[in-house]
Amino acid sequence: MSIANNLNHIKKQLPEHITLVAVSKTKPIEAILEAYDAGQTIFGENKIQEMVDKYNVLPKDIKWHMIGHLQRNKVKYMAHFVDLIHGVDSFKTLKEINKQAKKHERVINCLLQAKIAEEDTKFGLSFTDIEKILTSDELKELENVNIIGLMGMASFTDDMDQIKDEFNKLNVFSDRLKTQDPRLKILSIGMSSDYPLAIEYGSTMVRIGSAIFGVR
Ligand SMILES: *Cc1c(COP(=O)(O)O)cnc(C)c1O
Repeated sequence: MSIANNLNHIKKQLPEHITLVAVSKTKPIEAILEAYDAGQTIFGENKIQEMVDKYNVLPKDIKWHMIGHLQRNKVKYMAHFVDLIHGVDSFKTLKEINKQAKKHERVINCLLQAKIAEEDTKFGLSFTDIEKILTSDELKELENVNIIGLMGMASFTDDMDQIKDEFNKLNVFSDRLKTQDPRLKILSIGMSSDYPLAIEYGSTMVRIGSAIFGVR
């Protein structure tokens, strides 16, 4: 199937309120343009340099989401254009994003990455640490970042019950935060292998790569 066909197939399954991030990491410019020509305008990358290179040559109405683990010293390269940063997992990183956003007189939208997977390889904050950040006085001083929700990655497993558990606990936590602060409206969960499940568990934003662009 073509990229356009894949996109249409996925979009048909997504309820209206769910945002589709097309994850284009490692994929060439031509593939992104094919998706863009089919109407997709939000793309996700996991490496800052690769995202910058693509931003420079692609249409400027594309919204770029950084979905990967952040190297603090590289935040400055994307601060003038990044639309949403999904993988914020420390207050230090938030401070750096704020500093770089300020230089460009921007407010950068961020998601806090929650650790929901069992394995050690996944980055992310505990629910306790997320609440600490959200209620801290230091956060109020960061006027150039705007936290608008949470991001999570389920364990890399075929065990759907485990993935369900992980999505469920994040969804419950996210709902609780939302009642305290309605600005935290985004829940970024769901990838090619698990997005139908993520939708059942409150996802408002799915990050889909291989089901659109083919295997990497
Ligand atoms: C690569 C990646 C995705 C997309 O994965 P697919 O399995 O290709 O859909 C989603 N989220 C993050 C954080 C990723 O790094």
